[in-house]
Amino acid sequence: MKLIRGAVVTMDPERRIIDEGAVLIDGSSIASVGGYAQLAAAHPDAEVAGSATDLIVPGYINGHQHLTGDRLIQSSIPDDLPPGDAIFTWSVPVHAEHTGDDDELSATLTLAESLKNGVTSTFEAGTVAHPDRVVAAANKIGARLTIGSWGWDIEEGPFTGTPDEVLDRQRESLSLADGELIDAWVSLVGHNLMSDELVVRASDLARSQNVSLTFHLSPSTSDTDAYLARTGKAPLVHLNDLGALGPHVKIAHGVHLDDHEVQIVLDTGAAVIACPWAYLRLGQGTSQSFRHLDLWKAGGALALGCDAENAGDMVDGIRTAALFAGLAKDTTLDPTVFGASDALELLTIRGAEALGVDAAVGSIEVGKQADLVVHDRTRVEWIPPSDDPVLQLVWGSDGRSVRDVYVAGDAVVVDGELTAVNLDDLAAEAHDAGRSLLRRAGIKP
Ligand SMILES: [Zn+2]
Repeated sequence: MKLIRGAVVTMDPERRIIDEGAVLIDGSSIASVGGYAQLAAAHPDAEVAGSATDLIVPGYINGHQHLTGDRLIQSSIPDDLPPGDAIFTWSVPVHAEHTGDDDELSATLTLAESLKNGVTSTFEAGTVAHPDRVVAAANKIGARLTIGSWGWDIEEGPFTGTPDEVLDRQRESLSLADGELIDAWVSLVGHNLMSDELVVRASDLARSQNVSLTFHLSPSTSDTDAYLARTGKAPLVHLNDLGALGPHVKIAHGVHLDDHEVQIVLDTGAAVIACPWAYLRLGQGTSQSFRHLDLWKAGGALALGCDAENAGDMVDGIRTAALFAGLAKDTTLDPTVFGASDALELLTIRGAEALGVDAAVGSIEVGKQADLVVHDRTRVEWIPPSDDPVLQLVWGSDGRSVRDVYVAGDAVVVDGELTAVNLDDLAAEAHDAGRSLLRRAGIKP
């Protein structure tokens, strides 16, 4: 048994915050949550970590992250390219060149940054060539992962195929779920890059296997234009008419939705994963169409994502949550509409609910998995401590104050360092792998 000491932000149904608190871990799960003095007296043999000044929060949930393709060329795609160029002249050619070794190294680095910033659950966005190697990375480093792989049936592109071939590939990646840290979902690239047959059959596959389906849609206005031209309908109207939507569908982005599409999301119980830093980095217009707030206000299913290392770049949940809160206030000229505690909900329990994993993670409650993040409040940004730790967490801090992280009860970050992987050993390899990818993709000599 381990007893983790600190002020505990539970995110339980009562949203309790226990000032002089502690969390008791038994194996992979949370055995008790309460006052430190009582728990320490009741469990004198428990190994104690943390201190009275620490802040303990549930592990953060990143609902949309490309674990390959961007990491080895981190922050290398220029930020002044015309719309779409970042994807089709950089990301896709680099993805096409990824070897299995590249995938594992890339995922190791992204998940390392994730854990160090307190992100314990990561949902792969669905553009992986070698999902088994990404799973190997997650297992090595101790991160919780929902894996996906390439799914599109366009004429030309990496890992494209017929709907039969694409769905076989999806079944293969679903088989990587292990009932422990690794889960899987059906993942299509989405946009206007999936045939009606593919999306309908992928949705049926997800339903029949009792897993989720994710795809990209409408981060910019170009998907709306393409669907209107092809089908005469807005994207979600068309997909709903096909019968492809439902509570198992997790739509990445959904920035540019019309009123009818927002209503469809609410009526079908589909979830939307918002990646606000990507929209700002790529200039996609979320400050002009912040439908995510409309979904949230109507009780819709919503999660946050950090997207990719050339679309938001940092993998830091708190930074993402703070941006979302700022956009909510600013786009409505109403600071009362959404606050720090709402932002933390999206990053933890509301995100877990939207992604269908709230039975296991998202809050600090007895019986749930012991995915915990410990923020060190002796750092300068926490001095002096606010009476409202959540306000200070969201607006006054970020991943830098994450000191210890537990996933399923295992300490995966201790004193700010990963326990399983030495990043210094990977730096030279990552540099060379990134250069080689750009060369092979024909982008740089
Ligand atoms: Zn994406």
